[in-house]
Amino acid sequence: MRAIQVKQVGGPEVMETVELPIPQAKGTEAVVKIAASGVNFIDVYYREGRYKAQLPFVVGQEGAGVVTAAGPEAKSVRVGDRVAWTGQLGSYAEYAAVPADRLVPIPESITDEQAAATMLQGMTAHYLAHDTFTLKRGDTALIHAAAGGVGLLLVQMAHNIGARVIGTVSTEEKAQLARDAGADEIIFYTKTDFETETKRLTGGKSLDVIYDSVGKTTFEKGLNLLRPRGMMVLFGGSSGAVPPFDPITLTQKGSLFLTRPTLVNYIATREELMARSKAVFDMIAAGKLKLRIEHKYSLVEAQRAHRDLEGRRTTGKLLLIP
Ligand code: NDP
Repeated sequence: MRAIQVKQVGGPEVMETVELPIPQAKGTEAVVKIAASGVNFIDVYYREGRYKAQLPFVVGQEGAGVVTAAGPEAKSVRVGDRVAWTGQLGSYAEYAAVPADRLVPIPESITDEQAAATMLQGMTAHYLAHDTFTLKRGDTALIHAAAGGVGLLLVQMAHNIGARVIGTVSTEEKAQLARDAGADEIIFYTKTDFETETKRLTGGKSLDVIYDSVGKTTFEKGLNLLRPRGMMVLFGGSSGAVPPFDPITLTQKGSLFLTRPTLVNYIATREELMARSKAVFDMIAAGKLKLRIEHKYSLVEAQRAHRDLEGRRTTGKLLLIP
């Protein structure tokens, strides 16, 4: 089978198309013939070496397809099931072996491509809006990179809950997408100072929550915008990692809360994985959550997909089709 492998970490060019044997289903694993694989910023972190994996590794954390083999102890799936998953390396390939208890069934009304586009970014938006900070009607949230993969989904969920959403974006096209998703106000944070602009829109330090996936270029200023006891949810570093931080700053800025969550801890049990994926699939089926699959690349175009993602040229979801 064809797969995209990294033998040494680095830029997009380190991702090579290689021929590997189709994996065997051992023990509790199932083998999935992949119909679509999701491209996510976390793939960049692994490829660069910011997140560590044993070399060589096949890139990718998200996929959907059909089960072609199940190990003797894989109880929860059968050959022929349509399934999706996230959180296991190896989805930039034609097949992957995945622990069966990490696979969720794809509802009939959801296509394989929609499922691949939902698992990582959809469940992330869901836990951020519902669990990390439980948004309520009337809350004010600042969502950075509001037209990104997670961004567009999080804006829709926050809007559906009834929160006031301020979104940051870099281009007019992205602004329109974020507005269509439900953002009440847009700030062009590459052209204007988002701290000044947010204060103007909100009348001072009054945000209930900031969802910050941009990190290095946005984190520090965000702390000046939260109301006392507001929450900074730092969930990524698309612009780079946030430098070391003194917790006393949280006291000085108003007894703030800071968390650096990751999806793994919000789908740790099978029950939570099933419930969260179902909640997101149900929103899509009911027309309450719209997926934007912006671009489908063939598997061998993985380098281009990463260049586009890192180059801020993308909106919504990117898929690789084997
Ligand atoms: P996006 O589609 O959001 O792409 C990243 C976006 O970040 C860009 O389009 C760009 O939007 C913005 N950005 C700001 N500064 C930069 C920069 N210097 N370089 C590149 N992009 C920049 O990606 P994803 O939806 O896949 O992921 C979004 C973030 O969420 C990532 O940081 C990722 O790591 C994180 N994440 C965290 C999870 C968790 O559980 N903790 C789970 C999933 C994702 P613009 O041009 O509008 O500024």
